[in-house]
Amino acid sequence: NTNTMRKPEWLKIKLRTNDNYKDLKKMMRGKELHTVCEEAKCPNIHECWAVRRTATFMILGDICTRACRFCAVKTGLPTELDLAEPERVADSVAMMNLKHVVITAVARDDLKDGGAYVFAETVRAIRRKSPFTSVEVLPSDMGGVEENLQILLDAKPDILNHNIETVRRLSDRVRAKATYERSLEFLRRGKEMNSKIPTKSSLMIGLGETREEIIETMDDLRANNVDIMTIGQYLQPTKKHLAVEKYYTPEEFAEFKEIALSKGFSHCESGPLVRSSYHADEQVVSAKER
Ligand code: SF4
Ligand code: SF4
Repeated sequence: NTNTMRKPEWLKIKLRTNDNYKDLKKMMRGKELHTVCEEAKCPNIHECWAVRRTATFMILGDICTRACRFCAVKTGLPTELDLAEPERVADSVAMMNLKHVVITAVARDDLKDGGAYVFAETVRAIRRKSPFTSVEVLPSDMGGVEENLQILLDAKPDILNHNIETVRRLSDRVRAKATYERSLEFLRRGKEMNSKIPTKSSLMIGLGETREEIIETMDDLRANNVDIMTIGQYLQPTKKHLAVEKYYTPEEFAEFKEIALSKGFSHCESGPLVRSSYHADEQVVSAKER
């Protein structure tokens, strides 16, 4: 029974906290900001915030118009657009003295531009207040509308990240509205619009995919000129979400990394606790060196 499958040792890590981290949390509440780091209870939070100075902000509210079956974000009718959010995010980035920041958002299928304008404004506000911080954007497919992607790329982020999430065969079951093909196309278009901005995508494994399907996903991403890939273990956020079908060992993750690099990705993070934004600061360097 997959629901009662025990978590392997390498996934049992203790959350470390310190005073610095508590202050940061207080600041987030004061500014009504959401970070994926906190909401997803990401196990890397200490390393990212305190040591690497990286964080992932979730903008455009905390209610998503989609309901992907792996994701813990609330689904519903989103709140009004908060046009002051870009400045508040930028203030926090400056206060946290971040080296690298990832900006992601809920899917706003209720908005014609999919939230692209507020997204772009957030990138610009961060640039103004923290010119030395690299900015990675991690949007949904924003309805698959080309103009929305253009609005976002006009703000010149350092990395365009868009998650493929799972292999082709499982996409319909795992993701809501988004499709495998549309995500590939989104990434390919992004590279066509601005070839200087590296593209990146993440795959969660442990949802019942085969090894061949994982490798096929790497090939599909490379065929669409994706530069950076991350591979992480899927963990079930609540009992209502999809069950974990398999826990891959650290050795298997290491092997996938080798395969990905042999396929021509400039950078690949692959490991049980790897998340889309894990070690993202290093990827900017490697992307810029290319
Ligand atoms: Fe936040 Fe990503 Fe780091 Fe997790 S891996 S703490 S979500 S920046
Ligand atoms: Fe979660 Fe993104 Fe899916 Fe919304 S679109 S449910 S935020 S993964």
